[in-house]
Amino acid sequence: MTDGGTVAYNSRVAALREAEYPMIKATLKLIGDADEVYLDHAGTTLYAKSLIDRFAADMTANLYGNPHSASSSSQASTSRVDDVRLRLLQFFNADPSEFDLVFVANATAGIKLVAEAFRSTPEGFTFAYHQACHTSLVGVRQEARNSHCLDNAAVEGWIEGKALPGDPGSPEKPTLFAYPAQSNMNGQRFSLDWSERIRRDGSGTPRHIYTLLDAAAYAATSPLDLGNSASAPDFTVFSLYKIFGFPDLGALIVRRQAAPTFQNRKYFGGGTVDMVVCVKEQWHASKTQSLHDSLEDGTLPIHSIMALDAALDVHSQLFGTMRDVAAHTSLLAQRARSRLAGLRHRNGASVCTIYSPEQACQNHARAMGPVVAFNLQNSQGAWVSLAEFEKLVTLKKFHIRTGGLCNPGGISTALGLEPWEMKRNFSSGFRCGNENDVICGKPTGVIRISLGAMSTISDVDRFTMFIEEFYCTDDTLNTLPENTSNDIEKTCGIHVKDIMVYPIKSCGGYRIPKGVKWDVRAEGLAWDREWCLVHKGTGQALSQKRYPRMALLRPDINFTEGVLQVSYHGALPDLAKPNISIPLSANPQFLEPLSAAKRLTSRVCGEEITARRYTSAAVNEFFSAILGVPCALARFPPGGQGNSMRHAKAHLQKHQSLPRQMRCTLPGSFEGLATPPDSDSEGEPRKILLSNESPILAINLSSLQALNREITARGGKPVSAEVFRANVVIGSSASQPESFAYSEDHWSTLRIGQQDFKMLGSCRRCHMVCIDQETASKSEEPFVTLTKTRRFDGKVYFGTHMCHLPSRDTLTRDAQHPTLQVGDTVLIDPPE
Ligand SMILES: *Cc1c(COP(=O)(O)O)cnc(C)c1O
Repeated sequence: MTDGGTVAYNSRVAALREAEYPMIKATLKLIGDADEVYLDHAGTTLYAKSLIDRFAADMTANLYGNPHSASSSSQASTSRVDDVRLRLLQFFNADPSEFDLVFVANATAGIKLVAEAFRSTPEGFTFAYHQACHTSLVGVRQEARNSHCLDNAAVEGWIEGKALPGDPGSPEKPTLFAYPAQSNMNGQRFSLDWSERIRRDGSGTPRHIYTLLDAAAYAATSPLDLGNSASAPDFTVFSLYKIFGFPDLGALIVRRQAAPTFQNRKYFGGGTVDMVVCVKEQWHASKTQSLHDSLEDGTLPIHSIMALDAALDVHSQLFGTMRDVAAHTSLLAQRARSRLAGLRHRNGASVCTIYSPEQACQNHARAMGPVVAFNLQNSQGAWVSLAEFEKLVTLKKFHIRTGGLCNPGGISTALGLEPWEMKRNFSSGFRCGNENDVICGKPTGVIRISLGAMSTISDVDRFTMFIEEFYCTDDTLNTLPENTSNDIEKTCGIHVKDIMVYPIKSCGGYRIPKGVKWDVRAEGLAWDREWCLVHKGTGQALSQKRYPRMALLRPDINFTEGVLQVSYHGALPDLAKPNISIPLSANPQFLEPLSAAKRLTSRVCGEEITARRYTSAAVNEFFSAILGVPCALARFPPGGQGNSMRHAKAHLQKHQSLPRQMRCTLPGSFEGLATPPDSDSEGEPRKILLSNESPILAINLSSLQALNREITARGGKPVSAEVFRANVVIGSSASQPESFAYSEDHWSTLRIGQQDFKMLGSCRRCHMVCIDQETASKSEEPFVTLTKTRRFDGKVYFGTHMCHLPSRDTLTRDAQHPTLQVGDTVLIDPPE
């Protein structure tokens, strides 16, 4: 395609997006009105509406049975499957007399089938794999007698005739060499002629080496041509949903010359055997008509296979040939790469570090697939946390992937992680997918965007503009205020405006009525986060992040009746009840026995806990029906031991304890300064119930007002205090003084009424603050503005954690029975 051709092609794709991909259109229930930007085609690509319509029409118009019997419905299935098998071979230009195609669940299942055959060879086998392999290939090494991880140079050396290190090779023992045609991590491509070259040694003598090509990533956007069987890999695996979006199937194409390797496979199942004798003797005859008959155990996914007909038709109708798709996606990827590589902070430092071999990127379109892997750095060179990045990118409606991407060799090479570092990271608590993603100054994963046939220039531009808007800094943001609170509290009468507790974690709050004195305990305010809802299968505590409707489950604590009443303030799903009462007393009669709770542990914020579930079907069905998820109410009362006890994790953040004159520069980067003392490390760990981090969370209304000024200045709608789900809201009697905003960053103690509290550090925020607690609808604010005005060290903060300091003087009533109430005066850092 010429340049003009590619632009015209892009316009064609953009034009068909409206009709064919309604699932990415903006819907009213989602944030704002922009479309979703789907950039995870290497995970799975999108299926076209025509494909689904055509498949549905086929299924409803025809009667299909289980193949291989005499009925007409069965015959119809058999012949459709045979036809599709041939069509798919032709799609890869593979001659059916040279190749057979085996349907499998996914690429991994194809790999396992090959591994199963090699494992059963009497001598075992040697396994060599390229370092860019997906985890699914790496795992084959567990089956091999010996295995080798090779880089490009080692592969070339081996092809030239060098032996594998420490492996003399044996004529009987076969070797399996596996590599990806394209890395799923960064799109790097590898030579397709390795299969042919490795079959003979330097002198031309055939070697006992088979090749397994993982084409799952490559074939998604490029033509793979198996026209020459002499140069083709022996085994090639595909993920068909990465090419077509649907059906969810994989395929294994076997070069017939390599078919005898499968004779060693031991297992047989329904579908792969002609006769089995079980009684008195044990004998069987495996199917031999064709290779695929002997490998497709059990009933084929027949309907999925038939859907491939529609998939192939619609794909070529919408996008032309795979060559066209390759040209289009490669143009988009080059645009993304060059824009991201060009982004600079005002001080000249680059924003993105892109992980692709240098020579591969320049003018060599074949060398890279349409995948870009990178990390972000702030103006001082510190890495942006992937977990933090995900919160914002998700809110902005991008669908991307971050982390290790199932590519251990690729990641450790790109990030320069040594095996000892990966093991250290593992033992210091790092796991695939958790928040602890920058360890000892190195990232542990990458950000990946990947393009597909239906991607457009505007998808790429929206993404690069997003990175520019939020991650290019000009070093003048986030000036922290001087601490002027003492003067203000004297003149403005700072006091408690509101007190809230959240009896069921992540559900609505209960506002403490005026004039009611509320108990303060070591774990926090009485009745705060004492219950949670846990998923019946996983034990995971449910959160508004996934189930925003939890906000509409409003509690009312009724001490006269001794119950927690919960009512639902949204449109009731069919058969759901509007409210329920739960006894406040922790009567063991309503709860599962402690021994059962220990067996079935629950997880809160990734921490394993023993919460006791309610046994009442009425209670659990009330919540399950409203939220549409099988869940149970669980209780985590104060005073527990072991797993029935949790500790605060809040601590002072760097931006809070710097010398004042240092506070005026941005985020990210006070290298060389000693870490401030962590207030929590001194004494005993503080107990909490099911709150995320600390006993009590407070917010300052002046800060909220400052934030709302920023939001409205950017054209957004101000947010209410409720979105922060604080326990104590502090403000002045009249209007909120501007200079008081964010002074909470520097408070160390508060006296509220007669009680003293110690500040435990700023509260880190995620996009849950974007859920309107009145309507359960989501928007971008306040998180987007917070990331622009309250981001320190790459993390976003609003509000402050604190805990009660018990009085040493036990003679007074207030000391014996600490309480808070609305209207209590607040003194900041009072003298002892
Ligand atoms: C996606 C992918 C796999 C795994 O494919 P499944 O269909 O999930 O089994 C393996 N290798 C590469 C290169 C991939 O991109």
